[in-house]
Amino acid sequence: MKQIIKLMTLAILVSLQSCDKQEIEKDIALNANSPETGVLPNELGNHNTAHNCATVSQFGPNSYWSNTLVNTSETNFLKQQNNNASNLFGISNVPLYFAAGSGTFNALSYGPPNNYIIWGEEMLSGALNYGRSAVAYIVAHEVAHQIQFRQGYPSVRGASNTELEADGFAGYFLRRSYTSNWSDVIPAYNFSQSIAGSNGSSHGTAAQRRSSVRLGWLLANNGTLSNANLDYNFFYYYNSYILPGKLKSSNIEKPKKIDQGLHEFMLTKIKELNDIHSGKISEEEYANLSNN
Ligand SMILES: [Zn+2]
Repeated sequence: MKQIIKLMTLAILVSLQSCDKQEIEKDIALNANSPETGVLPNELGNHNTAHNCATVSQFGPNSYWSNTLVNTSETNFLKQQNNNASNLFGISNVPLYFAAGSGTFNALSYGPPNNYIIWGEEMLSGALNYGRSAVAYIVAHEVAHQIQFRQGYPSVRGASNTELEADGFAGYFLRRSYTSNWSDVIPAYNFSQSIAGSNGSSHGTAAQRRSSVRLGWLLANNGTLSNANLDYNFFYYYNSYILPGKLKSSNIEKPKKIDQGLHEFMLTKIKELNDIHSGKISEEEYANLSNN
């Protein structure tokens, strides 16, 4: 009897839904590819764990969930980079969701319990205007926020430290996983500058971001680091050597946690990093720095 009632209820529901084709399509639009049933992209802004990486705070009212952004090839490239970054930082592939349509110039990283990233279509096409390395860079920056959310980084508190470290992780990722040519990083860096605005807001100043990306790139020189070591090294060199007035002599004793070979290499780069931060190395000169 119970089964019959269930079947009848189902039949009534199906027939009711069939009456309104538009309603069915709306339901599909609401549910397909959505991280949460029945939510539109612009309704996810309520989550206070969301990390917003662009200048717009939410997705627009006409945005919708999609399984492809731009085209299949670029969507697959984006997914591949996301998985490569997840793999490099030792976590299972971060779930990705895609918001298409107008008002989607954004990428959002959601902390626990969601632990997913939402990419907007306009963000992807904007990055592609600069080149695929710009996509790889933003991907790694967003995955870095997942590492921070889940594993409790940055270990050092300070204004913009979350963003600067994500840039450092992205620079490290590009070197370890994407390219051995520094020149490939420049389109990525230029895109990130274009969306952060001239004063950089929470993402730090242009000089801070430039030195963070380069520092991450250089820290990748001697092999793979654990997330804990990458975090530790990043702030050790950033705070001890890069910040104005902090340039220290090469005789200073190295912390035990830092690899001797890497430290010796980093000491050859301290002046360069210092000059990037101070602006002595111009943006143009920055683009022409050596591969290592
Ligand atoms: Zn960010």
